[in-house]
Amino acid sequence: MNIEQIYKDANALLEGHFLLSSGSHSRFYLQSAKVLEDPKVAQKLAIALAKQIKQYGLKIDTVCSPALGGVLAGYELARALGTRFIFAERVNKKMTIRRGFEIQEGENILICEDIITTGGSALEASSVALEMGANIVGFAALANRGFCSKVGDTHQGKPTCKLPNDIPFFALENFEFEIYEPKDCPMCKVGDKAYKPGSRGN
Ligand code: ZN
Repeated sequence: MNIEQIYKDANALLEGHFLLSSGSHSRFYLQSAKVLEDPKVAQKLAIALAKQIKQYGLKIDTVCSPALGGVLAGYELARALGTRFIFAERVNKKMTIRRGFEIQEGENILICEDIITTGGSALEASSVALEMGANIVGFAALANRGFCSKVGDTHQGKPTCKLPNDIPFFALENFEFEIYEPKDCPMCKVGDKAYKPGSRGN
């Protein structure tokens, strides 16, 4: 499965000068919502990801995604795995699990994102689930931006990867492109201003 082609076909690989949620800048941005607007594509991706996870032999009770980006991918993944689905969301910047979602003591939870860059939001969602008694068995994303090491990769994750080393991370593919600290950003250097994806109608 060629994830890059799927994103290109959906016009979901954007080019510009983007301010990422991590604070870094990038020339490219993956707009997963554009890929997942076709439920058939979403289902196909989730089935492929679920296959990988099943082959690994994880026992999963529930998939949990950080809102908003991870919700569609996580919901489809839960369907493909035959599990329950819940989501975490930010309230005043703090990740929380609300809406009446409950977690049983020792419940096996897999955290699913659309894209994992450094895994910050996924880690926050896992921390909240842990506090509620979950057993975090894995992380998953449609694509890995190359900072973390997914199951099957031979290289180690970069120091900026926030996902724990001892929990497996599944992704369909690595999808690498450079990101810059604002002070090192070549687009900033020529006076261009970074913008948040979505803030200009994309
Ligand atoms: Zn910049």
